[in-house]
Amino acid sequence: MKILQVWIEHPVRSLDKTFTYLSEEEVFPGCRVEVPFGAKTLVGFVDQVENTDENQAQIEARLGFKVKKVLSVMDKRPLITEELRQLAQYMHDTTLSVMIACYQAMLPAKVKPASGKDKKILMEKWVKVSGQSVSLTPKQAQAYAFVIAHQQVRYSELRASFPSQAKSLLDKGALVSFEMEKSADNKIQKPVPFAGTLSDDQKNALKEINDSEDPVYLIRGVTGSGKTEVYLHLAQDALEKGKQVLILVPEISLTPQMINRVSARFGKDLAIYHSGLNNQEKYEQYRKVMKGEAKIVVGTRSAVFLPFYDLGLIVMDEEHDSSYKQENQPCYHCRDIAIWRGRYHHCKVILGSATPSLESYARGMKNVYHLILMKHRINDSLPQVTIVNMAESMRHNGSYILSEELKAKIHDRLQKKEQVILLLNRRGYHTQLRCRSCGTTLLCPHCDIALSWHNDVRKLRCHTCGYESYLPKVCPKCGSNKGFASFGFGTEKLEQEVQTCFPGVKTLRMDADTTTKKDAHAKILEAFGKGEADILLGTQMIAKGLDYPHVTLVGVINGDAGLARTDFRSCETTFQLLMQAGGRSGRGENAGEVVYQVYDPDHYAVQCAAAQDYETFFRYEMQFRHLGKYPPYTYLIALTVSDSDQRYVERTADALKKGIQGNFKTIGVISLLKLQDLYRSRIVLKGTNLDDMRQAVLTFMHSTKPDMKGLRIDVNPMVLD
Ligand code: ADP
Ligand code: ZN
Ligand code: ZN
Repeated sequence: MKILQVWIEHPVRSLDKTFTYLSEEEVFPGCRVEVPFGAKTLVGFVDQVENTDENQAQIEARLGFKVKKVLSVMDKRPLITEELRQLAQYMHDTTLSVMIACYQAMLPAKVKPASGKDKKILMEKWVKVSGQSVSLTPKQAQAYAFVIAHQQVRYSELRASFPSQAKSLLDKGALVSFEMEKSADNKIQKPVPFAGTLSDDQKNALKEINDSEDPVYLIRGVTGSGKTEVYLHLAQDALEKGKQVLILVPEISLTPQMINRVSARFGKDLAIYHSGLNNQEKYEQYRKVMKGEAKIVVGTRSAVFLPFYDLGLIVMDEEHDSSYKQENQPCYHCRDIAIWRGRYHHCKVILGSATPSLESYARGMKNVYHLILMKHRINDSLPQVTIVNMAESMRHNGSYILSEELKAKIHDRLQKKEQVILLLNRRGYHTQLRCRSCGTTLLCPHCDIALSWHNDVRKLRCHTCGYESYLPKVCPKCGSNKGFASFGFGTEKLEQEVQTCFPGVKTLRMDADTTTKKDAHAKILEAFGKGEADILLGTQMIAKGLDYPHVTLVGVINGDAGLARTDFRSCETTFQLLMQAGGRSGRGENAGEVVYQVYDPDHYAVQCAAAQDYETFFRYEMQFRHLGKYPPYTYLIALTVSDSDQRYVERTADALKKGIQGNFKTIGVISLLKLQDLYRSRIVLKGTNLDDMRQAVLTFMHSTKPDMKGLRIDVNPMVLD
């Protein structure tokens, strides 16, 4: 008989301990088991196994309580490695989440220790070209070329793009179909080695890293300085030593461009792991890494949990990006996990960014991270930046969307057949509608947030919960039928404005509305890359990672809108956005130009971005953080309670405030906006000893009986607004 210690799938604080079960079947730590729990059948995750010769009665007598047998052992072999078990413990201790939630975050959905659907491993139908020569109609030839370009394609995908050609190509014998368990297409290519000469910055960065024993490096390099090439060189070395490599990128930068670049260099060893994969695909990639088939992985946040057995390098590109932070429990930061795993594997961790987070750069300055600077662009030209004061521009009769300066520059590029990117970090048409009679703003009934008007579908939409409605005939507040005045504008309106100003111009718009379909994102970028449009416009999605040589002008509309947010990081994120946008211009032979349209042209975030001057920005911003006692000078822990019962929320937040005591400040209780019918209140602990702060939270949690339903604990929160 085996005595098991099992974590139960309920992520409830009072159940954050293992329960004892018995099993006669072989089972290992890290396997899932089905267990009876009260009247329910739940999935558990085995923590420990003790072999014994005793029978059930003897075991119960020894332990002094009744134990049940597991209903089944779900996995023959452990799903995770010993390392990942230790990592779960580290996450548990540092993020103050329950253990089972840590395991759930680490494992792909197919094998998560949680009951639910979609656990079956599916087969899928794929097609590839047969090699037979068959005569094709032009449209069929297009579909055929699509398959060739992808080497092999999911049949469903082909049908989605070519509804009437897919089947005829199969029938004609031009394509053959086959079944595959793995469905993540890695676009295997022949490796193309680096043919250029490394720049001085690149050589220096490589030498510093190779000559040093330090575990963590921070490369601050302007966009286009060749950081990615440095990563690829380091990856090459690690691969040659037979080790595995993990390259982490933000969700948005995992573009086909990036994937192509890495896979072109290394060929077939590549695995790709990101949230766009379905559960089946993720599971396959997970197994590929576990079985050692994938030597190099390019992935977003959750790729940091893949079961590597011998890592030789971890790269985290755009290390400042907010998508590295998980906002749900466990609220971990990918950087912390990456550094932990680097230590475990004795491999180097490279953090890279043109605009490092203040926390990381401060660590770089203190030599906690080995700081490396790459100051020069490969093509040696920084874009020229113009700041347009929109308040002034509007006084001179200009449009509130496009200033005369920006219009003139766009006109010039269109003449020269060069490309333009316009960035506006708001989607929709109008961002607010207000009653002409009483001035009330139309709000989402589920969230305290203004509804945006979407002209293309002629509907109001909540960008937080997705609620949609038609325009009401009368004001819901005062009943007036005088209609609504519109305020603010988003990408949809911007696109219309561009088309009005430049009749016949070809535009592509990329925002959450135009990228709901799978691969829409990639298709838009590909079309722009091929020159199918003159202007690409969209939200911050387009600010990162793109490398288009024909783009010579980038305009940022409402570039300083982010400064209006009350968050302590709002200057930092505004600066980052403006810098990133600048980095997209002039990456080819032609010089690049950037225009920031702002209302506060003298703000240091705007000025420093225009000068592409990170150092000065860092100094200013550190002063601001120092005055406000914000990170990196202090640590924060945010405790947010949300529930449909407002009184419960207030009561619980008060109890947290009174109960969590120690040598730190408590800010709040602050009432936050209602979201998705949930009332929310928050307290924030601010202090200089994070371990003490964590301990105070734990002490309080252990002393209270209730489960603290709806409580989210965020240690080192990224945003507080
Ligand atoms: P970053 O990651 O810092 O933005 P990249 O590595 O993407 O910079 O480099 C910018 C551009 O310069 C890319 O198109 C890249 O292919 C090219 N590049 C990088 N290093 C070299 C080099 N040593 N010689 C020539 N071109 C290079
Ligand atoms: Zn009204
Ligand atoms: Zn809503």
